[in-house]
Amino acid sequence: MITRTLDAGTSPPAAGFGPSRRPARWQSLLSQGVSSAEELLDLLGLDPGAADCSPNHFGFPIRVPRSFVSRMRPGDPRDPLLLQVLSRTAEGAEVDGWVAEPLEEARFSPVPGLLHKYRSRVLLVATGACAIHCRYCFRRHFPYGEHAAARWQPALDYVAGQPSIEEVILSGGDPLSLRDSKLADLEQRLSSIPHVSRLRIHTRLPIVLPERVDEGLLAWLGGSRLQTVMVVHCNHPNEIDPAVAAALGRLRDAGVMLLNQSVLLRGINDSSAILRDLSVALFKAGVMPYYLHVMDRVAGASHFDVPRSAAEHLIQEMRATCSGYLVPTLVREEPGALSKTPLGA
Ligand SMILES: *Cc1c(COP(=O)(O)O)cnc(C)c1O
Ligand code: SF4
Repeated sequence: MITRTLDAGTSPPAAGFGPSRRPARWQSLLSQGVSSAEELLDLLGLDPGAADCSPNHFGFPIRVPRSFVSRMRPGDPRDPLLLQVLSRTAEGAEVDGWVAEPLEEARFSPVPGLLHKYRSRVLLVATGACAIHCRYCFRRHFPYGEHAAARWQPALDYVAGQPSIEEVILSGGDPLSLRDSKLADLEQRLSSIPHVSRLRIHTRLPIVLPERVDEGLLAWLGGSRLQTVMVVHCNHPNEIDPAVAAALGRLRDAGVMLLNQSVLLRGINDSSAILRDLSVALFKAGVMPYYLHVMDRVAGASHFDVPRSAAEHLIQEMRATCSGYLVPTLVREEPGALSKTPLGA
């Protein structure tokens, strides 16, 4: 029932676009997302005061595709998908050690829009835009204006000048919030650099708006000379519905290697049973669990934190009950380390 209500919003784009300027369907769906706490709670039949909801967005507006809302349980203020996107009063708390820029990324940026922290791979901040705003995001205060590589040439020149770089990671923001024409151009320019052999895309879009995986995306991604890896970002098994599973299947059929990273979030997925269900659902959809991140200490998100001892205990419980390949590596990001730091080994 709720699905029907939500789908009513997916009308065709406004008149005035000529056929060539017509946005792709996913772009229309994206622009029709929910952008206020009031509407979000209303769609779920919840009181405005539910779930510790705050009308203040703390400078990080609410943004959530209707398809993602349709997977929330109506009437449940503790719904694990809702809690990822609803601004809450707890975000206003100032907590010692929780800061705007926890990873000190500026130190690792040799040219604007590029982070070179680890050997053999670089991360390109392809855009600052995301399809969904996750309240726990460590980039919620990120100075995208300075970084979003609208002009990619300096970053590409840097990659071309460093033969040790084998892999380029598109991140953001969400790189798949860019149009396919831009992405295809970027892919072309990267694949013309002989020492680059892999293209990795870190994205939440196939999960939160599966319509993004359309012909336009599959055409440039499936046709690349580069080996392609997509790291999706899914935190809870309820995020995977048949449309998401089908989108992941289309990516696999196009030859894309699929991995998942999650963030360990209090009240959302901090149980070994939920994490196990998530791994099983992902694997069924052809996605290998990769990383489970403990929270980066970003201001406004401390209420999602799971203590390190509890996190390590969860991963040990998973190991005791799951096939080894279904257990993600629990990691923490430490400024200055040579790689992500594994925990609970
Ligand atoms: C996480 C990250 C990577 C990728 O690390 P992997 O362990 O290869 O997944 C690369 N660059 C930056 C800056 C990162 O934060
Ligand atoms: S999609 Fe990723 S980058 Fe964007 S808000 Fe969510 S966690 Fe942050």
